[in-house]
Amino acid sequence: MSSQSTISMDELVALCKRRGFIFPASEIYGGLNGFWDYGPLGTELKNNLRDRWWQDMVRCSPTGPDGEPLSIVGVDTSIIQHPKVWEASGHVGGFNDPMQTCRHCKKLLRADHVADMLRESEWRHALLATLDAGDDASEVTVVAGALRNWAQRKGKKAAPGLALVRQVDEVTAALERRNGETIAVDELLALAAQITDGAPCPHCGGDLTAPRQFNLMFETYVGAVRDDDNKTYLRPETAQGIFLNYRNVLDTMRVKLPFGIAQIGKAFRNEVTPRNFIFRSREFEQMEVEWFCHPDDAPKWYEFWCAQRRDWWRSVGLGDDNLLLRSHDADELAHYAKTGCGTFDIEYRFPFTAPGYGELEGVAHRTSFDLEQHQEHARTKLEYFDQQRNERYLPHVIEPSGGLSRGVLAVLCEAYTPDPERPSKVYMKFHPRLAPIQAAVFPLVAKDGMPEIASKLYQQLRQRYVVQCDVKQNIGKRYARMDEAGTPYCFTVDSETLTDQTVTVRHRDTLQQERIALDAVGGFLAEQLAAS
Ligand SMILES: [Zn+2]
Repeated sequence: MSSQSTISMDELVALCKRRGFIFPASEIYGGLNGFWDYGPLGTELKNNLRDRWWQDMVRCSPTGPDGEPLSIVGVDTSIIQHPKVWEASGHVGGFNDPMQTCRHCKKLLRADHVADMLRESEWRHALLATLDAGDDASEVTVVAGALRNWAQRKGKKAAPGLALVRQVDEVTAALERRNGETIAVDELLALAAQITDGAPCPHCGGDLTAPRQFNLMFETYVGAVRDDDNKTYLRPETAQGIFLNYRNVLDTMRVKLPFGIAQIGKAFRNEVTPRNFIFRSREFEQMEVEWFCHPDDAPKWYEFWCAQRRDWWRSVGLGDDNLLLRSHDADELAHYAKTGCGTFDIEYRFPFTAPGYGELEGVAHRTSFDLEQHQEHARTKLEYFDQQRNERYLPHVIEPSGGLSRGVLAVLCEAYTPDPERPSKVYMKFHPRLAPIQAAVFPLVAKDGMPEIASKLYQQLRQRYVVQCDVKQNIGKRYARMDEAGTPYCFTVDSETLTDQTVTVRHRDTLQQERIALDAVGGFLAEQLAAS
C-alpha cells in the first residue's frame, strides 16, 4: 500500500495517459472539462471492477444475516426517462447546488467549494507570503507598506479583481489604520477585498455574488420540437430506473421482500467545478443496489450494507487504512434521506484529499420516499402485500450506491507504487483479478525458435486470460512496460526453454523469478488468480 499523501496526482494522471488508461475526452480539440475517455487498459480495468461487483452483488449475492444468500436481480434501464420521473424524485425542484459568480472574472463557483479553493488560491498564498505568513496561518500582522508594494507590482497579475489592487490608495488607507495589529487571516482578506461577509474569488480576488441555486441536470429534448413539453433530462442517478421497474420485477421474478435490484450505468451531472481527474466528472458510472425491505427491518439492513460494502472495497485491494466509514451530519443529507437512519459514506483517502478522505460510496436509507413519490405522481399502486405478515405497505429502501469511476480512481491510487530501484521508477500493484493485463509472454530474443514457443504459449493462455505477447525491445524495457501496466506475471521463453521446456516467471511485486514447466503455466496462472 502506498502512502497516499506522497503520491503526486500529476504523475498518476501522466502515467494513466502514457500507458493508455485514461485520456481527456475530445483531446485533439483541447478537451472538454469534466469528461474523460478510457483507453485500452483503463477499459479493461473498469470492466474488471464492474464485473467483480456484478458477480459479488447479483450472480453470487452476499450471504445475509440468516446465512442464506440475498435475493438480488439486475436491470439495465434507459438513460432518458419520462420528465415527470425527475419531478417525482425531487431532482427538478431540489437537485441544486448553491452557486456564486465572481463579479470580476465571471467564474461560476460552488458555494461550498469556495473556502477550500481559497485555501489553495495562488493570490492568497502570495499575499500571505508578503507578510511572512504561511498558508496555514490563522493570524497575521498587518504591514500596510508591504501590502501596497505587492498590490502595485505582483498583485496586478495575481489578483486583478482584488479591491486592494484595483483601488490601492483607498484600501491601503484603511489598512494603514490597522498597521501593526495582529488580525485573523479571514479579516485581512475581507479588508483587502473590501467585502463585509463571505469570501473573495479564489481565482482573482473579486467580489462574489450571494449564493443562488443551479440545477445540475443536463437537459435535452425528445423528438423534433424543442419546447418545454418535450424537455427531459439525462439521468442524474441510476436509482430512479430501478424504482420505475420495481413493480415489473415483483410481477415477473417471483421475488419476495426483502430483495434487491441492482444496476450499473452512466449518470450525468453538470458539475460546476469538475475536478480531481475522474473523481468529480460530469459523466460517470454508478453501481447501485436498491434493497427493498419492511420498514421495521430497515435499521438492521442499513447496518448490514454499511459493513458489507466496506468489506467489498477491501476485497478488491483497497487498504484498510485508506478506507473510512463516515456518518453524514444532518445538514448534509439528501432530500430523500432526511428521515430514517441517515447516510453513511464509505470514503477513500485519495491523494488530493489526504490526510482526509473523499466519498467512494454512499449507503443511504431512502425510506419509502421514492416509491411514495412515484405512487403519487404516476397515480399507480406500488404497495407490497406481505403474505407472511398479512400486511400491505410501501417498502423502505436501503441503497448502497458506489461510484464505478471513483472506484477505478481509488484502485489506480492504491496501486500506484513508486520504486526508485526499478527502471520504470513506479509500478501498478493491482489486485491480480483487476489487472488489465493478467500476464505477459516474452521470448528473450527474437531468434532460435523462441518467438514460436512464446507465440504458442500466448495462443493457449489467451483463451482464458487477458495476455499480451511482446517481442520488441530488450527484456528490461518490456518488464518496465508491464510494471507500469500492473501486469502481475511475466513468462519469459529463453535458451533454457529450448533444452528443458521450462520458462521464467517474474512476479511483479517481489521481482522474484522462478522457473516452471512450460506446460504448467496455465495451471500456475489459474492457481495464482484463484488464491488472490
Ligand atoms: Zn474572480
